[in-house]
Amino acid sequence: METLSVRCNHCGAPLQVAENTRFVTCQFCQSSLEVKRTDSSVFTEEVAKIAENTGKMAGSLEVITVQNEIEKLDREMGLQQLPTSAKKGSGVAGGIVGAAFGIFFAVVCFLMASGFSSAGAGMFTIVPVGMGIFGLVMAGAALIGGVNHEADRSKYQERREELERKLEALKQK
Ligand SMILES: [Zn+2]
Repeated sequence: METLSVRCNHCGAPLQVAENTRFVTCQFCQSSLEVKRTDSSVFTEEVAKIAENTGKMAGSLEVITVQNEIEKLDREMGLQQLPTSAKKGSGVAGGIVGAAFGIFFAVVCFLMASGFSSAGAGMFTIVPVGMGIFGLVMAGAALIGGVNHEADRSKYQERREELERKLEALKQK
């Protein structure tokens, strides 16, 4: 079996390794070495260093993962915000405006209903009463929607801050 002459990458001592050996321990400094071959040369590299590089790579991979998560969160929130704000206004304020409008609508309908009933048109009171109830339901829905939207947003902000802290921690490593 042929042997190769290489130098320890750590202490520079000459080493003899079998041709097909991939890992070797330096007899002089006990470094773990990986034998690397190119077309023109054979050299060794400390295994500890390789592991360190892999660790760094894993670290930057984690940074990318967290960055992607933040982007995804932003995208999701952006998509959510458009239709929600168009429909209900934004947040609790929009919900209250929607609710106030619904209650106003309901009051008008109930006034109409009582007008109809005092005019003796008993059957027709059903229509404005139904519309008034619908108005109250819409008011409730607007209020709940506004509150939910606000809760979603604070949840999103919390999650985003958490991710940003994680990202900072990773970058300082
Ligand atoms: Zn050595």
